[in-house]
Parts: sequence; C-alpha cells; structure tokens
Amino acid sequence: LEIIDTCVIGGGVVGLAIARSLAPVVNDLIVVDQAPHIGQGVSSRNSEVIHAGIYYPQDSLKARFCVEGKQLLYEYCESHKVSYQRCGKLIVANGDDEEQALAGISAKAAANDVEDLQHWGAKKLSEVEPAVAGTAALYSPSTGIVSAHELMASYLGDVEANGGFFAGSSRVVSIKIDGDGFVVEADVGTGESFLFRCRQLINSAGLGAQQVANTIDGYDKAMTPELFFCKGNYFTLQGRNPFNHLIYPVPDPSGAGLGVHATLDLGGQVKFGPDVEYQESEDYSVSEARCSEFYVAIRKYFPSLEDGALVPGYAGIRPKLQGPGDPVRDFVVQTQSDHGISGLVQLFGIESPGLTSSLAIGQYVADLLSEPELHE
Ligand SMILES: Cc1cc2nc3c(=O)[nH]c(=O)nc-3n(C[C@H](O)[C@H](O)[C@H](O)COP(=O)(O)OP(=O)(O)OC[C@H]3O[C@@H](n4cnc5c(N)ncnc54)[C@H](O)[C@@H]3O)c2cc1C
Repeated sequence: LEIIDTCVIGGGVVGLAIARSLAPVVNDLIVVDQAPHIGQGVSSRNSEVIHAGIYYPQDSLKARFCVEGKQLLYEYCESHKVSYQRCGKLIVANGDDEEQALAGISAKAAANDVEDLQHWGAKKLSEVEPAVAGTAALYSPSTGIVSAHELMASYLGDVEANGGFFAGSSRVVSIKIDGDGFVVEADVGTGESFLFRCRQLINSAGLGAQQVANTIDGYDKAMTPELFFCKGNYFTLQGRNPFNHLIYPVPDPSGAGLGVHATLDLGGQVKFGPDVEYQESEDYSVSEARCSEFYVAIRKYFPSLEDGALVPGYAGIRPKLQGPGDPVRDFVVQTQSDHGISGLVQLFGIESPGLTSSLAIGQYVADLLSEPELHE
C-alpha cells in the first residue's frame, strides 16, 4: 500500500489551487482525477470571467472568496505570466425598474467592499458602447477575463515544483477511514485499481463531490448536500466583436444565473450565455431550439443583433446546491468541526465564482488543515 501524506481529489481549478497552497507545507501530495488530464470538468466550461464580487450576499463565502480571490488572481496572473485582461464590465439597465435594481446592486457591492463601481447615464453608455442600448449602466472596472487553462497549467507547475504530482485516469471509487488516515481506492481503468493511504484528504471533485462523499465509509451521508445539475448554454456571435467591455443585463431576481451576457474571450470572440437549464444528468449538448430565447434576451441590450448571427457554442454545468426556484445557496466547505473526521475537507456547490475564488479557497483550505482549532 502506497503512503501519501495528502490527497486532493479533483484536478480542476479549485483542486489545483488547494494543492498548490498545500504542496509547500505537507510531506508529499497527489492530485487525482478521473480524467486523463487536468481541467476537463467544470473548469473547462465556463465564462472565464474574473468576477468583481458584486452580487453575492454579504458575509457569504462567495463574497469573501471572490473579492479576496480576484485580487490574488490579478497578482498571480501578472507574476506567473498567465493571460488575462482587466477589460471591465457594464451592467446595463433599461427602464425604471432595472435602474432601481442597479441601485440595489451598487449597495450589495459596497457591502462586499467592492467600492469602485461607477454609475453611467445613457449618454456616457452610448459614447463608450455605441452598439449597446440602455438607459443607465453600472461600470465595474475590476472585472476581467483569464485563460482558465493557462491558469490551471500554472497551478500544476507550482504543485510539481513543490514535489506534488498529478495522477490522471484515476477515478476514486471507495474511501475507508483507517486510524488517523484514509485508504483510498481509485479505478485506473483496465480493471485495475490504485490503492493508497493518506493522512489528509480533500474532496474537490466538482460535479462528482457528492458521489465521492458518499463512498466514504464512516461519513454520515445525511450531511451530503443534494446536487442539482444546472446547465448553462452558450451561443457564439458570428462576425466582428461590437463591444469594448463585458456586457451584462440586470440579473434575474431568482439568483440562479447572471442573465444571458456577452463575454469576450482573450482572442476577441464574443459568446453569449450562460442561460439556466436544470437537468437530470450531465448532458453537454446545446440545443439549437434555445436560440430564440437568446435573441430575445440579447436584443434588449444589443438591438442590432442580426438574425442568424448566433451559433450554438458549448455548455457547462453548475454543481448547484439550490434546486429550481430555491433561494441562493453559498459554497459549502465541510471540515472536521462539521463531520468529526480529522484530516477531511469537502467542498460542495463550487459554482461561479469558483474560478475567480480559486486562490482564496486554496489558501483557506490550507489554513483549515494546518490550524483546525481556529475554525471550530
Ligand atoms: C456555465 C458556467 C459558467 C461559469 N462562469 C464562471 C466565471 O465566469 N467566473 C468564475 O469565477 N467562475 C465561473 N464558473 C464557476 C467555475 O467554473 C467553477 O467554480 C470552477 O471551475 C470549479 O472548479 P472545481 O475544481 O471545483 O471543479 P472541476 O473543474 O469540475 O474539477 C473537479 C474535478 O474532479 C474530477 N472528479 C469528479 N469525480 C471524481 C472521482 N470520483 N474521482 C476522481 N476525480 C473526480 C473531475 O473529473 C474534475 O476534473 C462557471 C461555471 C459554469 C458551469
């Protein structure tokens, strides 16, 4: 039986960020993932936006990690040469009701220590973004975009530089608590398994986190929060990019998504999305039929969108803890003080802004494991 000090399950942006924080302070570390390579899960199917931290409830983990993580991420991208752009974002209102909603968003942002939002009138908006229609807008200068894959490759580089390593094609299928550690079995295909013992175990398996939790013999499964697959579909814009910033509508009051917005990637391609589609299974197909709803939503702020300009792009699935119509849920980070198992940290519901938050989550989990008494 191989003995490894610390195991992180999940080689997505969050698992890798946790691993890079832990690698310098533990004896040895492994990141295991069922996929052959890092970053094949939720982390490869998102908007790649560095969020400012505007919308999340005050004192939530989402607000805290997003605001801290954004700052850390900009510094990291700069020092580690990860491609990013601090392009800024506009939240565009049309009409009195939405303008009032902007005031609410400003107040929420201020409560989260996001103090740099600017209120723009229709004139300024049309000068800066001539293709965008709106009666007012909020400008967020600290919003940006990042290459998620470059970021993850860089995190893995940090892990490896500190003696950690990545084991792909290793699907965790069983975990047993054994004395002051865990015996983990990973299915490596070809009917074989990789069995090892570790002292510390971090479940950062994204859409698989609930399944992993439920394989832990000795963990109270009633503590596993229910998972809802919440798909977000994207359509890409054919032709020239008409925008200078990311363009968002006023978000849906349900809090399930941020509304069908226009995001730029680092190559200047415009994509619209993601919408909100709860489904029963992990299905990534983008149905052409959803296109008509996109035209309606987008034309509210981009009226010159031409028929036929949208083509199906890709879809991502949010690992949501809230079902359709339920109130917004926060990230869940379970530690010894929740489940009583020493050395075990489990993350659930790491949807947006998980990418932005990754470095802050990494630091938080490393602190939890090194000084659990501080968090009880
Ligand atoms: C549509 C959409 C848009 C988003 N937009 C943004 C955005 O613009 N900005 C932002 O900050 N965030 C955004 N997010 C959120 C962000 O993408 C996620 O929070 C982040 O990628 C989560 O990373 P992760 O490492 O937790 O999950 P993942 O990247 O999914 O990593 C988990 C890994 O665990 C592995 N795994 C699962 N089960 C097992 C098992 N049994 N054994 C071994 N390995 C296993 C998977 O293969 C996977 O690689 C968005 C999310 C979605 C869905």
